[in-house]
Parts: sequence; C-alpha cells; structure tokens
Amino acid sequence: MKITDFVCYEVSIPTRRRHTWASSTADVGQGWFILKVFTDEGIVGYGEATAMGEWGGDFSRYYGETASTCAVVIRENIFPAIVGCDPFDIDLIHHKMDSAIRGHNYAKAAVDIALYDIMGKKINMPVYKLLGGKHRDRIPLAHSLGVVMDINAAVDEAKKAVDEGIKNIKMKGGLDLPRDVELMKRLREAVGPDVNVLVDANQGYPSPKEAIKWGTEMNRYNLQYLEQPVEGIMQMQQITKMLQCPVCADESCWTVADALDIVSLRAADYVSIYVSKAGGLYPARTIASICENAKIRCNVNGSGEFGIGNAANLHMACCAKNIDLASVFPVTHVEGYPEQTKVAAHWYRDDIIREPFRYEDGCLVVPNGPGLGVEIDEEKLKKYGKEI
Ligand SMILES: [Mg+2]
Repeated sequence: MKITDFVCYEVSIPTRRRHTWASSTADVGQGWFILKVFTDEGIVGYGEATAMGEWGGDFSRYYGETASTCAVVIRENIFPAIVGCDPFDIDLIHHKMDSAIRGHNYAKAAVDIALYDIMGKKINMPVYKLLGGKHRDRIPLAHSLGVVMDINAAVDEAKKAVDEGIKNIKMKGGLDLPRDVELMKRLREAVGPDVNVLVDANQGYPSPKEAIKWGTEMNRYNLQYLEQPVEGIMQMQQITKMLQCPVCADESCWTVADALDIVSLRAADYVSIYVSKAGGLYPARTIASICENAKIRCNVNGSGEFGIGNAANLHMACCAKNIDLASVFPVTHVEGYPEQTKVAAHWYRDDIIREPFRYEDGCLVVPNGPGLGVEIDEEKLKKYGKEI
C-alpha cells in the first residue's frame, strides 16, 4: 500500500460555552486542523490536530501551530518526504518527517493519526490493537472548568457534571491565586470527598515557592494533583520535591526527549501525554513506555478535540497500563442524537463524525471499529470546514 494524496481542512464547530486557560485565551474548537490521506488501495485515513498559536512548550521550546501552518508544512515539507511510503512503515515515516522539517509536531500528529486510521482499516482492527492492545474498555473523564469562570458558576457547573456521572473535576487556575484556593475549597464542599479535584495552572504561578505555598493551601482540601504550576523542568522539580500532593507535567512534557528529562530529574510525579504534543500516536506510545518504566502515572489529555482527534485519544488512553488517570476529552455530541450529557464534558454542539462515542458512568467507551472506529460525515466537514 502506498500513500498517494492528501487534503487539508480548517474546521470550526460552535461551542456550549467559552473555555480558556491561563496560557491561552483563544477559543477552543475554532480553526482545528483536519487531514484526509489517500492511498493507492482506496483506503482513506483521517487525522486531526488542535493546533493553537498560543500553545507551546516551556519558554517557547516548542512553538505554536495553526491549521494554516499545519497545511503549509504538510504540503511543502512532510508530504513530499512520505508520498509513496507504506503507512505500516510508521517508524521510517516518522524519521522521514523529522528529517524533512524539525518540530511542527501538531502537523506530524495529524499525519500519524491518519496513517494509523489507514493501517487499522487495512487489517480490519481498531487502532489500539496497533498500540499494544487495550488495558481498559472505557476512559474516565475529567470535567474541566475554564479559568475565566465566576466561582459560583464554576461550583454550580461542577455539581451538575457530578450529577451526570463525572468523578473528576479539573479546575483551571494560575491567574488569581487566592481565587484558586477559594474555588478549591468551594468545590470540595460542593462535590464531597469522593470526587477527585485537581488544579491545572498552565504555568501560571509566578515562582516555585509561591506554587508550593498556594499548592499547600489547596491541598488542605485534598487536591488530587497540581498540574504544571510553573514554567520549566528545573522549576517543576523544585515543586515536586517540596509539595505533598503529586505534581503533573503537561507543558513541560512535549516530546520523548522531554519525558527522558523529566524521568532523569524526577521533575514530576505524573505526566500528561498528548497525541498532538508528541507528534502522533507512535511517539506518544514511546512516552507512555518511558513513564511506565519510571513508575510515573499518566493520563492522555487534549484540547477539545473533534471526533477524529477524540478517537485517537481514546485509543491512546487505553493502550498502556500506567495511563490510569482521568482525561479531559469532550463527550461528543452529534446533532440529531439525544444529548448524553447537558453539562458534563459537553463542549461542542455538533461534530463531523456520524455517531457519538458512548458515555457511561463518567467514562467514554473506546471505539472498537476498524481504524479509528469513526465514520466521517463529509457534509458536516463541508458545513463547518473549508479546504486550506
Ligand atoms: Mg494541562
């Protein structure tokens, strides 16, 4: 089988409410990158990247990407290097992509996801079978509260999400530290002791010492873990050493090389793996293995993926034993289907896949169909997207 052609799209789907965080004020789901890859056997694969200009690694170690930059580097650099390749030669393809252009992991992730979709369709197996198989059938979700939300509105929304089955609340913080402590306290009072509450500061705390101080305050209310309080692996190491609750690296762990640095410096207790930050499922699987061998627990997170990216995330989140923390994935809503949740992880009003993933007891069920296990609604792709 040979890779023959591709089409790029920029897609925007209306959201239920605004969702922003400390390091990004751009709206989610507005201008995501969708890729369609063709083969000489007629098998077509789809990829997605939630490319955002404002989102990058520590100290601009990795740059922001957009749907447009993804389209340009795929057209001018990546595709010329991999056209004619067999999608099953995924390691070789990653080497070719990395030789053709450094970085641009979101563009590479979209290609990698589309190739896994093709491989799965070719052998009539779900993608997780190509990643080592499945450790769990469903992935627990964390409901994410945006950083600009009023405290009362955030508490009210958390209660509604818990009523709909959610057992993990992720509170975005990092802009106003006393507000973070107050919201943590109010959330714990509202949801009780059995729901996990974690705080993601998105590098927003001014220094490691302040992160330790405010993290200790929040941990009085049983903080499950503090995610990316500050910027920088050395700074994260200082907090990990001092804070009683676990510390999770997100922006500090972009690539396989970052995972090795975190392990060697013991700079985090947990790692948040993204298919996109890593540059695709193949390198993301390597990060999971590195963390497993270092006894680091992981989750797979995203940035509000549509159905294609969400499917890739679900396949990734079930494939490693140490990926056992809850994920921030949207509960996909497809127009015409009954809403599975009103509030819980309900991000979008519609999607470009034909059927939503099943939501059960606070979890999304991993799809079992061939490839990514989703069917694309080409009409919806036209309605919400444009070729770029
Ligand atoms: Mg995060």
